[in-house]
Amino acid sequence: MNIDSSALLYADVILPLPLDNAYTYALPEQIAHLVQVGSRVIVPFGNRKFYSAVVISIHQQKPDYTVKEVLELLDERPVVLPAQMRLWRWIADYYLCTLGEVYKAAMPSGMKLESESRVVLCPDYVAEEALKPSEQRLLDALMVKSEQTIAELQRETSLRSILPPVRSLLEKGALLMKEEVRHTYKPKVEVCVRLSKRFFDEAEINQVLDGLKRAPLQEKLLIQYIEDSHLSAALALQNMVVLKDVSRRELLRATGCAPAALQTLLKKGVLELWQKPIGRLSSQMLPQQVALSPLSPAQQAAFDQILVQWQQHSVCLLHGVTSSGKTEIYIHLIQQAIEQGRQVLYLLPEIVLTTQLTQRLKRVFGDRLGVYHSRYPDAERVEVYQKMLSDKPYDIIVGVRSSIFLPFQRLGLVIIDEEHETSFKQQDPAPRYHGRNAALILAAQNGARTLLGTATPSLESYHNALSGKYGLVTLSTRYGDVQLPQIEVVDIKELRRKKLMKGPFSPQLLSLMRDALAHRQQIILFQNRRGYAPMMECHVCGWVPRCQNCDVSLTIHRSTRALTCHYCGATYPLPSVCPNCENRELRNRGYGTERIEDDIHDVFPEARVARMDLDTTRTRQSYEQILHDFQTGATDILVGTQMVTKGLDFQHVSLVGILNAGTMLSQPDFRSYERAFQMMAQVAGRAGRRQVQGHVILQTMDSQEPVINQVVGHDYTGMYRAQMQERELFHFPPFCRLIYVYMKHRNERVLDQLAADAARFMRQVFGNRVLGPDTPPVGRIQQMHIRKIILKVELTAPMTEARQRLRQLQGHLLSQPAYKSAQFYYDVD
Ligand code: ADP
Ligand code: ZN
Ligand code: ZN
Repeated sequence: MNIDSSALLYADVILPLPLDNAYTYALPEQIAHLVQVGSRVIVPFGNRKFYSAVVISIHQQKPDYTVKEVLELLDERPVVLPAQMRLWRWIADYYLCTLGEVYKAAMPSGMKLESESRVVLCPDYVAEEALKPSEQRLLDALMVKSEQTIAELQRETSLRSILPPVRSLLEKGALLMKEEVRHTYKPKVEVCVRLSKRFFDEAEINQVLDGLKRAPLQEKLLIQYIEDSHLSAALALQNMVVLKDVSRRELLRATGCAPAALQTLLKKGVLELWQKPIGRLSSQMLPQQVALSPLSPAQQAAFDQILVQWQQHSVCLLHGVTSSGKTEIYIHLIQQAIEQGRQVLYLLPEIVLTTQLTQRLKRVFGDRLGVYHSRYPDAERVEVYQKMLSDKPYDIIVGVRSSIFLPFQRLGLVIIDEEHETSFKQQDPAPRYHGRNAALILAAQNGARTLLGTATPSLESYHNALSGKYGLVTLSTRYGDVQLPQIEVVDIKELRRKKLMKGPFSPQLLSLMRDALAHRQQIILFQNRRGYAPMMECHVCGWVPRCQNCDVSLTIHRSTRALTCHYCGATYPLPSVCPNCENRELRNRGYGTERIEDDIHDVFPEARVARMDLDTTRTRQSYEQILHDFQTGATDILVGTQMVTKGLDFQHVSLVGILNAGTMLSQPDFRSYERAFQMMAQVAGRAGRRQVQGHVILQTMDSQEPVINQVVGHDYTGMYRAQMQERELFHFPPFCRLIYVYMKHRNERVLDQLAADAARFMRQVFGNRVLGPDTPPVGRIQQMHIRKIILKVELTAPMTEARQRLRQLQGHLLSQPAYKSAQFYYDVD
């Protein structure tokens, strides 16, 4: 760029807001020469608010309106690299959202400080060095009120430039971002007290004690410390190292003293504070590194074929049956990539899976591996992000979809495990991107190879493989030549008629459960409904309790003694009489995981049962505990929703029960059949992963459904062919592109008007490719009515233009006053 040094410089920036455009700000002279594209700056926006924005270009063109000035430069080196910006742009463009929304999703909150960010005082913080006056002022303000927004703090402290001290205090661990405090924060240090070196002497310490005769609190504290630290023993040995650690909190608690008394002793230099690290996952479990396991002949063949495929296709699909050792192959590929000096991204659909996998990978790769996921404390995510920017970045990142946004510098391999999982797709909020597809773009933009792995490929990926767009490698034997599980179908309709069912369990399932428990084998039971019962119903008049905010019936939750809406989370007390006819006989209909857990206790009172569903896995600790207990045999039976179908690897599971296949097939979605197959095949794959063949009992109301046979026969290709025929016939992906248009509004009349307008405009452009508007199966959520329009575009259509038209439409409709409070967004694919 040729810049005249005397002229004013401007920066175009992206704000972390759902805004379409970049905004231009003037660069003050003192920072103008320091700002770079990809750096963050603080800018004022709207009514006395400020945000951290990312600079996307620097130029000299003065806009024809008055521009505000950049307030502050946050980074002297860019934190968004050009390659990342390319991905951001692709996502905003393809998924029809704004760059601001992508920015919001792409960075940990600690890097997006803005006036509305809330910070809290960290209870365990100890200053290691003297604080700057501005930092001290900030802390003082927070002492008075320990949680404040940055805007409030600014008013409180009247500091002109508030962000530098906020940032440095965040880095020092004195502050925390509010949002991370809720679930994730675990202190990483414990503040301890110790004797200063020069007082480690009997005579010295006695002299100090004598001097404290008139300061009873200090004396009490010191005596307590001397006892707790076993000082006399250490003095006898002349060895300071044997002093026991004494925590500050404990010391204050034991003596009942206020911190001020301790403060005086610290000032006198008798005692000092230090921070004792306590185990965070990462530092705690750095087991020694082990060598790679040698691959079996079948695995080696697959490995070699993958390398061959990569010579012609940058993407390869590994279709390997469950427990064939795909992970083992990934490990060898990772090893190869990092030996070549490239970085690896290992993408997983779900947080629950990272625990097992991280343990496996850490054993081999140690601290060359970084883990990045949304339930880690934000400070840790900032750490990972910054480390990736440094000149010693992680070689391998394991993470869920948001890790595609990390600043990779020499990405060479992307592994997408369980590529068929729909949880790769982000639903809300925007960007509504598909983690797998965005990762494929990321890899392509960086010249990296990609491996998609799964036992049950998505139809899209398998189609791409068969049509030659991707390479395809198949692995059809399990590691150790263990047989695939034997699947027995049980017709529960018939059994119910004959009254042979015991609650949700068929006699066949119960008998195998009994066997398994007797042989100390473990059992997984899969039911795709959480809560106690999916529905309550009046025996007499058929009344069903429904949510006041949404058009859905409520689920009974026994543990909280409430009815809960699974869409908006609202809870209601359990009624004891029908409000309609005053009958007292209210029935529970259907079985949720909670009820199944209860029923097992009735049948097998000795069995140790755990439940894994959304309700029991809200925090990292809780799901890690459940997995750990099952892995170590502390529980016998694991009941769960689709969470238990995911690629977990347990050694002693001999039996899997699918309690009701029908609940999966009744979903109104063109992918539900494919999904049902995948879930059943996957959960069945958890059985018999070592030595002995496992058993699966598949309970269903309609044993004639073709998908049931395909699952029993481990017949993926049969399912694929049948489904592809249907998709072609009814014109669904992968034979076309789908874009859903969602519109929401509190007022149903306004909404219908908006939907009709949108559909009319769309028909003018896209003709009969437009379907709807329709009301989706759940037509109202959180008091917002919903309408949906479907756009089906042929694969050959020019999408750039189509997207442009859709953007125009959105802008046009939302700019109309009548639709001001409407929501209107696209969901692509
Ligand atoms: P998949 O990912 O295909 O379901 P995994 O990689 O989890 O299969 O392998 C299943 C089990 O077999 C794992 O416990 C794994 O440790 C073991 N295994 C697979 N391949 C090997 C190998 N080459 N050497 C030792 N153990 C292996
Ligand atoms: Zn009734
Ligand atoms: Zn609701």
